[in-house]
Amino acid sequence: MQAMEFDLIARIRDRAGGRADVVLGIGDDAALLQPPPGAQLALSMDTLNAGVHFPTSTAPADIGWKALAVNLSDLAAMGAEPAWCTLSLSLPGADAGFVDGFLDGFLALAQEHSVALVGGDTTRGPLSVCVAVHGFVATGAALRRDGAREGDDVWVTGHLGDAAAALAAMGAGAVSDRALRARLDRPTPRIAAGRALAGLAHACIDVSDGLLADLGHICRASGVGARIELAALPASPALARFAAALRWPWQACGGDDYELCFTAPREARDAVAQVLAQAATAASRIGRITAGQDVVAVDDRGEPWPTSRGGYAHFA
Ligand code: ADP
Ligand code: MG
Repeated sequence: MQAMEFDLIARIRDRAGGRADVVLGIGDDAALLQPPPGAQLALSMDTLNAGVHFPTSTAPADIGWKALAVNLSDLAAMGAEPAWCTLSLSLPGADAGFVDGFLDGFLALAQEHSVALVGGDTTRGPLSVCVAVHGFVATGAALRRDGAREGDDVWVTGHLGDAAAALAAMGAGAVSDRALRARLDRPTPRIAAGRALAGLAHACIDVSDGLLADLGHICRASGVGARIELAALPASPALARFAAALRWPWQACGGDDYELCFTAPREARDAVAQVLAQAATAASRIGRITAGQDVVAVDDRGEPWPTSRGGYAHFA
């Protein structure tokens, strides 16, 4: 166990990137990090368990990518700039091949966002990956869930439902479309969009458990309701091939999208479109914030859509 742990940690340390603000990275009892003056530290952690958060057939590199991506997505939803991460790996055995593959995906995404891996833990147990990310946001400028106001537009970045469609195909024993499966295995954290929206959007959340469920978190925190037009939900070319009756549940209630759902005042429409264009991120207006407390989805005739199926709930 000891030998295995040290060998694996050495492999990780040899490949982990650095940053000027990492005073001391992997190798001591704790990392020493130098946050910039005037910034608040944003911190988030997410665990991925085999068979729960990713299919057991997932390639090691895809597990690595996704483990970091879901965490970066949380920082994006706060409008923060990611800087450092830690990695706790629980592995059934001393599988160096798995660790090498895992790092291929994990570090590719870390490099893309200049995130340094500064520490972690390596233990034996069922396959499980826990990542924590740290980032900076200017004092008071973070995007929170509790700032939505009646009359705000509701927006979403990118497109919704691809990952849920891929999972549905796998559940039915079919081979899922490559583009859809790629969105399940390699989600894109919307870091640039989140940072561009800080100080402009009223409220923001990343869509991990399904649009309506996650928008519900904004509404509860803000004391408002929302009305969503299902026909306005953005679909990728691969998903647009499905009929609305199939597609809408995936787009509105599926999970694993890792898009940003945010609200912003009507007057800010042009500004939102402009900063997101600069961030090279597509976004769609999908509804508005209402008085009250319910999240209502309406179909293309304006009829309320039965939304009894909520988002993905653990332990449900
Ligand atoms: P300790 O027993 O003092 O906790 P460890 O042997 O667990 O030390 O870890 C040694 C060093 O390797 C520490 O700097 C730790 O942060 C780092 N480390 C261990 N596992 C990982 C991992 N999976 N990813 C990144 N760094 C790791
Ligand atoms: Mg330890």
